[in-house]
Amino acid sequence: MSEKVPLFIDGECRQSSASEWLDVTNPATNEIIGSVPVTLEIEMQRAIESAVQAQKDWKDVPISERARVMLRYQHLLKKNHDDIAELLSKETGKTLADAKGDVWRGIEVVEQAANIASNMMGETVENVATDIDGYSIVQPLGVCCGITPFNFPAMIPLWMFPIAIAAGNSFILKPSEQVPLTSILLAELFQQAGAPSGVLQVIHGTKPQVDYLLEHPDIKAISFVGSVPTAQYIYQVGTQHHKRVQAFAGAKNHMVIMPDANKAQVISNLVGSSVGAAGQRCMAISVAVFVGSSKQWIAELKVEMAKIKPGSKEDPEAAYGPLISHQAKQRVLSFIEEGKQAGAVCELDGSHCKVDGYPNGNWVGPTLFSGVTTDMSIYQQEIFGPVLVCLEVETLEEALELVNRNPYGNGTSIFTASGAAARKYQHEVLVGQVGINVPIPVPLPFFSFTGWRGSFYGDLHAYGKQAVRFYTETKTVTSRWFDDDIPDGPNLTIQLK
Ligand code: NAD
Repeated sequence: MSEKVPLFIDGECRQSSASEWLDVTNPATNEIIGSVPVTLEIEMQRAIESAVQAQKDWKDVPISERARVMLRYQHLLKKNHDDIAELLSKETGKTLADAKGDVWRGIEVVEQAANIASNMMGETVENVATDIDGYSIVQPLGVCCGITPFNFPAMIPLWMFPIAIAAGNSFILKPSEQVPLTSILLAELFQQAGAPSGVLQVIHGTKPQVDYLLEHPDIKAISFVGSVPTAQYIYQVGTQHHKRVQAFAGAKNHMVIMPDANKAQVISNLVGSSVGAAGQRCMAISVAVFVGSSKQWIAELKVEMAKIKPGSKEDPEAAYGPLISHQAKQRVLSFIEEGKQAGAVCELDGSHCKVDGYPNGNWVGPTLFSGVTTDMSIYQQEIFGPVLVCLEVETLEEALELVNRNPYGNGTSIFTASGAAARKYQHEVLVGQVGINVPIPVPLPFFSFTGWRGSFYGDLHAYGKQAVRFYTETKTVTSRWFDDDIPDGPNLTIQLK
């Protein structure tokens, strides 16, 4: 059944008066499961005004009370974990296991937000001059906003609003129009956790709605996650309008395999990290770089990848789900065709993948290319599908040069038995998140999510201590009290009563 997705304004779900609505589809069937409004300017203005008003009181709520809202929210998210995963799976096509992981990674950030006080401490230096002390206090910015992609509808909004709101801001979320349902459920649960009305708002739409947020004087900071062109645009326009911007972009993550690496571990990790979630993860491994000959690896890799089957969320055996849309599937198929035309060896071709009972789904099977060179589009572009491309180099130095020449810098990993090789790689690679004998460096909320170079525009990253700095301003105080101010004994006693 198709449902009209509401806005979440002023603490409640509201039906938009928009005249334009976009279809939300189930990627496994391409059936329409909902429609999402292209929010009207007057509705966005209302959301912003409500967020401004709510923030005035919220910033003065004691910090431990703000933290307790996050504790209650964490409890509610855990209690409703399966329902959120079910909904998320419906709109993304993710397998239930993947969908549960998406929710769980978000819950971990809410746990960190509950620890906000220790991350918002200022600093003090006594006696910066005679009888004068200097100290800093950390204060929220005001109204912040988040613009999020389709591929993690729970985790990525939860990277943003819990930290921003715990720090004393209010927040406006504009989720991907392809997956708007999960955000509304997240907002409803936040309200149930005791958040005051207006502290979190959810609006829907596309570029015009994002432009409105980028240009609005009451929005102080913008968190964005999505593709490179959108990240560049949002960073440019947001900073032109004097806002703080952090924009997380696309990726092309390389795994370097040294000749001494454990073969079984490499093969199983490469398969999982390249085709898991249909390759629609910004931390997916999409390039395997073999130091020495790749021949001995490719044959086995092909056998293992061929065993992997996509399927619907109802199929417990499915390793991954469909691509998000018909257009996304066509894009991936074009890359596969370009790879073949460019002379790469297509060892395994997922272009004609079929899933029983789901003839209209956006399926692409695991696809493996060997003999890839750096001038090919399948190496240069982010494919965002279940496609792994393999290259060979002679030495670790060459592997490092290759990875560092690639414009992206989100994640990378090295598989080796040599501590020295791993240490050299970790030290010299120009990528923000490094795995050593783990395929995907797992984003954990006590560290920040630290993509580098073409994978990130801005300076302070998501969650961890950096997010608290991103969503706050530091004020420094110089303070002097004169001796004459000290009350005499009896007065002091009265005060202490
Ligand atoms: P996208 O850029 O198409 O959309 C992201 C958001 O931006 C959506 O909310 C969308 O409505 C909005 N948007 C799209 N075009 C816009 C425009 N011209 N102007 C203003 N707003 C616009 O990205 P997507 O396809 O939803 O997500 C996939 C991309 O996200 C991949 O490139 C992936 O690597 C990246 N991603 C990066 C990270 C990271 O942490 N670096 C994490 C997840 C996903």
